[in-house]
Amino acid sequence: MQRESHAIIIGGSLAGLLASRVLAKHFDRVSIVERDFFPEKPAPRPGIPQSRHLHILLNRGKIILEQLFPGLENELVAAGAPRLDPRSIRWFSPAGWAPLFSPDLNDLIMFSRDLLDWQIRRRLAENTNVHFLEGGTVTGLLANASRTEVAGVSVRFRDRQNPGNIHEQNLNADLVVDASGKVSQTPKWLKKLGYIPPQETVINAFVGYATRIYECSGKLSDTAPVFVSTAPPFRTRGGGIFPIEGNRWLVTLGGGDRDYPPADETGFVEFARTLPTPIIYHAIKDAKPLTPISSYRGTENRLRHYERLPRYPENLAVIGHAVCAFNPVYGQGMTVAALDAQMLDECLLLQRQRYPEGSLKGFSRQFQQKLAKLHTIPWTFAISQDSRYRGSEGAKPNLATQLIIDYMDLVLKVLVDDAKVCQAFLEVLHMIESPAVFFHPRIAVKAIGQLDNFKFYK
Ligand SMILES: Cc1cc2nc3c(=O)[nH]c(=O)nc-3n(C[C@H](O)[C@H](O)[C@H](O)COP(=O)(O)OP(=O)(O)OC[C@H]3O[C@@H](n4cnc5c(N)ncnc54)[C@H](O)[C@@H]3O)c2cc1C
Repeated sequence: MQRESHAIIIGGSLAGLLASRVLAKHFDRVSIVERDFFPEKPAPRPGIPQSRHLHILLNRGKIILEQLFPGLENELVAAGAPRLDPRSIRWFSPAGWAPLFSPDLNDLIMFSRDLLDWQIRRRLAENTNVHFLEGGTVTGLLANASRTEVAGVSVRFRDRQNPGNIHEQNLNADLVVDASGKVSQTPKWLKKLGYIPPQETVINAFVGYATRIYECSGKLSDTAPVFVSTAPPFRTRGGGIFPIEGNRWLVTLGGGDRDYPPADETGFVEFARTLPTPIIYHAIKDAKPLTPISSYRGTENRLRHYERLPRYPENLAVIGHAVCAFNPVYGQGMTVAALDAQMLDECLLLQRQRYPEGSLKGFSRQFQQKLAKLHTIPWTFAISQDSRYRGSEGAKPNLATQLIIDYMDLVLKVLVDDAKVCQAFLEVLHMIESPAVFFHPRIAVKAIGQLDNFKFYK
């Protein structure tokens, strides 16, 4: 009898969940090892503290999620997630109010991150070959005798009823996918196996979040969803107010350059008052809060260069925030996790064509190289904004990136007066159009025409 093929995913947040859907097509058995126990209802859990904060799913991400889980969008809406016409959302861009656009963008579905993950876990539970191993912290990688191939993981399991009850177990696998987020231990585990750990590029604009959920009543019932962008280095403060399931509104305030929004009642509302538009302030000042204020500060951009390693073991893939984490204000993380899952699928299909008998020889290295290319655009986008903050630490943009940054300043200046340019910008932001559109003569001529006003935003 043929041996059952097995893939292990470390981490059951979005990158891990989406990867499992794809791996379920390629392996007989897929195990998601997650250190938390998943809540039975949509609710926060310790492993993803960011779930309390605003999560906007870009159009590209929404399309991929729907491909992976047909009907997911309707399920979210049926669970109360509001469907927002992009024309109803007001955007205070870095250069001022953007025109109300009627783009070809799809509706946005707004939900708490807890609802999204819960709904996806429910859908995955329908896959008989996907298994959740909860309460299991992966503590290391197992390898073959010559340490050229990863062969599984070692796990420390806690008992759900009796957390003091711990047991260790080694789990064998044909492929290990690390989706454990920024706290990923793979660099250390590789070192232990005799490999050079990947170099890291870190750019930190010291952005902090503070979030609170309010009941939809009084003035809040009449509020339009609003997103206020920061405009570094001059304007370090921004925020967003959006409806979510359960007839609630979620308000996230953000500040860069260590201009962190406070987590106390008065400070939070006062911070909202100082935004360039008072809409959020007026909406929340007398509103009824349903939660305490949650803060989050670990927002640095962090890129681990697995693609550059001179030696890399077979049967290992690193995805999601574990390889490339962004400052979340650009709303890219979940969509990039979806793109990573797609890339995993594509590379495994190619591998199958090359080795119909199922060998994964050469797969890991090729996958990390393709992934690095995939991350280039969202990474450049995030760091080009973040490197504008005066106190930003880390690698400085090279000349090419700096030119793109300067050019984007001009495009931003144009978009506030030009609905078509605004639409193009949003389509790139939502990752459904290539940034190459910014260099189309239709936009380039207008952007260069702004050179006289360059100081405005620079
Ligand atoms: C404040 C904030 C706001 C955000 N807003 C947006 C947004 O608007 N739009 C958007 O697209 N994205 C947003 N993101 C990004 C989004 O949350 C992540 O990109 C997304 O969760 C995918 O991350 P991930 O699955 O790679 O890692 P994570 O979400 O960090 O999950 C890692 C998982 O691995 C588990 N784990 C860690 N170590 C181990 C181990 N050793 N063994 C077993 N399990 C382990 C953790 O418990 C966790 O479940 C935001 C992020 C933050 C921080």
